[in-house]
Amino acid sequence: MKYLRWCVVMLFLILPLGACTQKEPATEKGKVQVVTTLFPLYDFARVVGGDRVEVSLLVPPGVEPHSFEPKPEDMVRINRAGMFVYTNPYMEPWVAGLLKGIDRRLLTVVDASRGITFLPAGDHDDEHDVNEGGHHHAGMDPHVWLSISNARKMVENIAAALEVKDPPNAGFYRKNAAAYDQKLAELDRKFQEGLANCGTRQFFHGGHYAFGYLADRYGLQYVSAYAISADAEPRPRKLTAMIDQIRRSGTKYIFYEELISPRVAETISRETGATLLKLNGIHNLSRDELHGGATYFSLMEQNLADLRTGLQCR
Ligand SMILES: [Zn+2]
Repeated sequence: MKYLRWCVVMLFLILPLGACTQKEPATEKGKVQVVTTLFPLYDFARVVGGDRVEVSLLVPPGVEPHSFEPKPEDMVRINRAGMFVYTNPYMEPWVAGLLKGIDRRLLTVVDASRGITFLPAGDHDDEHDVNEGGHHHAGMDPHVWLSISNARKMVENIAAALEVKDPPNAGFYRKNAAAYDQKLAELDRKFQEGLANCGTRQFFHGGHYAFGYLADRYGLQYVSAYAISADAEPRPRKLTAMIDQIRRSGTKYIFYEELISPRVAETISRETGATLLKLNGIHNLSRDELHGGATYFSLMEQNLADLRTGLQCR
């Protein structure tokens, strides 16, 4: 109140308006301004925050996020927000540097993966590939959101941060988070049941190693052509081995990933006769998907349907 009065006085003294607006960059029309890096975080924040928050995505639609580095204008955008939500230090290693130059009294920074147990990046065969292509990740797998039980934890982390940031709406955030958590728990059960009786428990992926957490959660064996980073190239030796493995196992499907050219998956498909099926790693959406109203929930439902086809589940 005292501050407000001071501002009004200053206004009359015709001082720059900036002096009065500077202290309240976190909210616009009373809404918490939330900047998130990847789509799942954006989706979780808007589900929990509803109309009390203004959520925006840092990584532009259609951009492959593993190679994303924030530009100076992104830094300004984060600095002006009230809350910044990132996936984890393995997905966005640039966050550590960013935080050094930011006023933490105004900005709430949320590591959405807090409390989640990380898995190593890739199978043991991938160790060399990880060093070459995945230098960002320091050996741990960043794709935690592809296990629904981890997604539930991320929602909880975002909700807890919003409750502290905006106490008058804490009850609203808690209620939304609880309702969404129940939906996610049901979807998790659907995955468990839907993937229980399948012709095979092994799935082949002509993409980068993104589904380690999903495979771990539902007891599947996962083979990917690329290492952890999407811009890494598969080694010819690994590709040949994968083609052999598919031929031997009699697998009828090969998965490809979103946002990246399915060139490798197509090669494998041509060599083995396996049918191509999309498996969405839900890092980021295309502009069309985003405007079409796709959600983490709808994309995971689609993934379950495609996995059931690919694994020949009953
Ligand atoms: Zn990835």
